[in-house]
Order: sequence, then C-alpha cells, then structure tokens
Amino acid sequence: MGRVIAVANQKGGVGKTTTAINLASSIAAAELDTLLVDCDPQSNATSGLGLVKNPDRISTYHLLMGEATAHEAVHKTELERLWIIPAHKNMIGANLELIDGERREFRLRDALAPLRERFRYIVLDCPPALDLLTLNALVAADSILIPMQAEYFALEGVSELLDTIERIRASLNPELSIEGVVLTMFDDRTNLAQQVTAELNRYFGDKLCQATIPRNVRLAEAPSHGKPALLYDGRSRGAESYIQLAKEIIAHSMPVQEMPTPAEPPVAGEEKQVVNAPRWKRWIKERNKLTTINILDR
Ligand code: ATP
Ligand code: MG
Repeated sequence: MGRVIAVANQKGGVGKTTTAINLASSIAAAELDTLLVDCDPQSNATSGLGLVKNPDRISTYHLLMGEATAHEAVHKTELERLWIIPAHKNMIGANLELIDGERREFRLRDALAPLRERFRYIVLDCPPALDLLTLNALVAADSILIPMQAEYFALEGVSELLDTIERIRASLNPELSIEGVVLTMFDDRTNLAQQVTAELNRYFGDKLCQATIPRNVRLAEAPSHGKPALLYDGRSRGAESYIQLAKEIIAHSMPVQEMPTPAEPPVAGEEKQVVNAPRWKRWIKERNKLTTINILDR
C-alpha cells in the first residue's frame, strides 16, 4: 500500500512546491514508483516538471469533479519512476463548485484510493490556503510534511495549521499524522536561523527533519527548465539536500527488510551494514538516455 504525503503550509512561498517536486523525484530515483499530485490552481508543480499548459488535459480538477478516474489522470514525466496528475487554473473554481457537493472533503481521497496499490509514494502539493483543496489533500493523506522557513515569525500561523490538523483528525481523517517539519531556504550561518531552529526543535522535537534545505539557486532555476533539481544539476547542494530528506522519509515508513536490496553483495566475512536506502541511485540524463549512478555513499 502506497503512502500519501501532503506537502502543506498555508503560508505562501515557503517552498512547498519545490519540496513536493524534489522529494517526489528523489524518492523515484530510489526506484520506488512515485506519483506527484498537483492540488494547486497555480499549477507550479505541473509546469516545474515540464508539462506545458493544456486546458484539455485531464487534471486534478476532473478528479475532484468526478469527471475522470485517477488512472486516466496520471501522466508520465521525464523521470522513469515518477508520474504526475497535473493541475489547471480552473481549479480555483473547484472551491466554489464543490461547496454543495456530496462528500466534498473526500473527493480526492476517493479518487486516489485505486492508485495506492500502484504507487509506493503519492506526494500532494497544496495551495497556500486552508481551503477546500488543501482540506481534500489532508483528508486524502496519511501524513503532512510542513515546509517552513527559519524566520522569527515561523511559528505564527503554524498553530493555525496544527489546529486544522487536530480538527481533521477529530472528524474527517483520524489517521492523519505529522510526517515532519522541514526547514527550507535555510542558512545555518546566521544567528537568527540557529535560534529559530532551537525553538522549533523544542516545539516539534523529533518531528523536525534532520535534513535541512539550503537556499540554493539551482533549486530556483530548475523549474524554469521543467526539471527536478536532480536532473538539472544533480550535484548541487539543493539536489543533495532533497535526497537526504527523501532517505529520511523513506526510513520513517519502510521496514528495513522491504528496502531496496544493496547494489553490491556484502563482502564475505564482513557484517552487512544496514543503511536507510542501500540501493539509492540518482538518474542523470546523458545523451538522451538515462543512466544510473549509485549515490549510496553520499
Ligand atoms: P506557494 O505558496 O505560492 O505555492 P510555495 O510554498 O510552493 O509557494 P515555492 O514555489 O516552492 O513555494 O518557492 C517559492 C520561491 O522560492 C520560488 O521562486 C522557488 O524557486 C524559490 N525557492 C524555494 N526553495 C528554494 C531554495 N531552497 N533555494 C532557493 N530558492 C528557493
Ligand atoms: Mg506552491
């Protein structure tokens, strides 16, 4: 059964889409079938993976409206193990159109249910609002990943998000857990970042991800080339940091015996080392063909 992770924070511009694209592609690079679902009318995850605007394409809107099945809505991406259900700006209307709809909070959950068998991970990119679209994502999800900037006001607004999570747990989705809080656009050289991190550590404890995402220009450039960072510049600090985050998240939910088998057999007589994702690979595009590079030792 696949795990559904919603990347959400009602605050705008905190790195939700960058996290959704690069987390999903880093998991796919570990050879686990992954689906990214763009739940935001801005459609940034859709264009960030190189899908050109096309109003006729089946999108998350059609799923929410019950006009298409999830299988029909899944599109291929450049990365072999990554698929996407794109968004379209007409989803702004979905908030209103669904208001009197039957099971309006469960539309996405019901639509994605048949895909849980096919994908190991389903990552949902949410809009910057606690609206019906985000609510649908949080009802469909097993867990929420919260990207956050290490700013002085970081915790403001998070309490509202945590209240929302509590309310959803109490009524619509009792199983919703917190996958983690990930610091984005992080610069650990500043005193402020360190102070805020210490504060967030006290507040979230082990829910604060070990991996932090640095401010890195490659992460900002990659979407304009329609690529995840690991295809645009796989050696950049930004791409590396999302690989670390993906390792951490896979380790949360995957029992050790189910993890991909090691690329090389252990040397006879040596004790086998248990690592988070032993057969981690990075896909690099090379003269139109995809080759894999083992990045286990990174
Ligand atoms: P919205 O709330 O509008 O959906 P968002 O939370 O999805 O925004 P992003 O779109 O991921 O945020 O990021 C906002 C801007 O910051 C984008 O221009 C993105 O390229 C840039 N950005 C995000 N993360 C990083 C990073 N680690 N380093 C540099 N730039 C970044
Ligand atoms: Mg976004």
